[in-house]
Amino acid sequence: KTQPNWERFEEEMGSTVITEEQETNKLSKDYYWYSPVLAAELADKVADGVAKPETVEQALAVLKACYTHDIPVTTRGAGTGNYGQGIPSYGGLVLDLSGLNKIIAMEPGQVTVQAGVKLGRLEKELREAGSELCIYPSTYMKATVGGFFSGGSGGIGSIAWGNVWDGNLLEAHILTMEEEPRILTVKGDELNRYIHNYGTSGIMVQLTIRTAEAVDWEQVIVQFDEGEDMLAFTESLAYDDEIRKRLVSGHETPIPTYFVPLAPYIEEGKAVALIEIEAGDDSRLKELSSSHHGQITRVIPADRYHKEMSLSDFTWNHTTLWALKTDPTLTYLQSGFSTHHYLDQMRNIKQRYPDEVHLHVEWVRGDGDIQIGSLPVIEYQSRERLYEIIDYFESIGVSVNDPHTFLLPIDNKGRFEQILEAKALNDPKGLLNPGKLPELKKARQAG
Ligand code: FAD
Repeated sequence: KTQPNWERFEEEMGSTVITEEQETNKLSKDYYWYSPVLAAELADKVADGVAKPETVEQALAVLKACYTHDIPVTTRGAGTGNYGQGIPSYGGLVLDLSGLNKIIAMEPGQVTVQAGVKLGRLEKELREAGSELCIYPSTYMKATVGGFFSGGSGGIGSIAWGNVWDGNLLEAHILTMEEEPRILTVKGDELNRYIHNYGTSGIMVQLTIRTAEAVDWEQVIVQFDEGEDMLAFTESLAYDDEIRKRLVSGHETPIPTYFVPLAPYIEEGKAVALIEIEAGDDSRLKELSSSHHGQITRVIPADRYHKEMSLSDFTWNHTTLWALKTDPTLTYLQSGFSTHHYLDQMRNIKQRYPDEVHLHVEWVRGDGDIQIGSLPVIEYQSRERLYEIIDYFESIGVSVNDPHTFLLPIDNKGRFEQILEAKALNDPKGLLNPGKLPELKKARQAG
């Protein structure tokens, strides 16, 4: 592989390219090491250079120059993705959008931002103005708005507002990768061509996202002797229309033992629910928890929200992070259980893998319905064993969104095909994050 002539290239695009090894290594990597499979596959992948545009015009100039010289471009927000989807498979340039960090307009029910704005800063500024984000990942302090909608799925708030496909993105400005790159303004169903695309069909530089009126949230820890009581409690809470909530997260033993800072509030051997609910009269919560044999061990009042310990730091994929801190050989899966017979599915799994699979659930709303998402912690033995577990999950009707591949998932809603259509139009040379698209025909045949 020959190195691009960066000097000429810098002149053409009017901004500098970082080529210093330590920096390009750092900016070529995300949290791929979460997966022992990806850790082995991606460790040596690195960009040849990194550009950090501060304006959309500069980003356009970078794309134009890369098109002319056939240089692959991998877009980067904050690099908190954990499937290696932001790691350049074929070198080239990392386009770091952290410099596009302007909040453009706050209006009732929506906010327009540049793609590199961090979700934590946005939530803070929205709350100061009386509103809040509808959904955000547990990495919100670092993650960017563009990175979340291009590479994430859901998180805190998803129990009320759904995931990235459920109307939370209202409009996006997309850059194409052509001889003369264009800026497309995309709305409505057409957004499915770009949401969760890993930057393969176009690059988001500006997003208008849905916001909600700010709510005073209190955070509550509820512990249980029995994992199944914890599950029943989280289910009741997820469906309870009287309690407004932002987070309903459940963890069976031994997962709570990984949450070292929460140790004063969780006894050894207990299962735990970590929740965010509207502050106020807690009588309904107390009723629900006692009817499921739960014990409320800590309430963090609303005036301490996001000011001291955030319970969301232990939920979603942060759960896996705490597990990895305790035991670096652990790993995880992403799965969806049946809301009708999830207990049977979980009992089957526990029976077959009593010491290998530890259940962690996140209740969400998807396509309008309550759903039970799960990021179980797995005692990793080998790639073969991991895929045997995945096969077993699928054989009993538990869907698995494999987090051990950097390839874009192919869903059953036709979204992958929409991304391919947009890619054919916007990226004729196939330079946008190459290597991340599975072959549709093969995948469909296999599936
Ligand atoms: P990056 O990692 O930089 O990028 C993600 C992908 O999108 C890459 O393929 C990149 O090429 C592409 N991309 C980035 N910006 C753009 C753009 N502007 N236009 C086009 N393509 C772009 N995810 C969740 O959904 N929910 C969670 O709760 C959650 N929790 C996590 C917890 C931990 C501890 C970790 C490590 C990860 C977690 N994630 C979660 C994954 C990840 O943090 C989020 O998806 C996050 O929103 C990604 O944002 P980012 O700015 O870091 O994106």
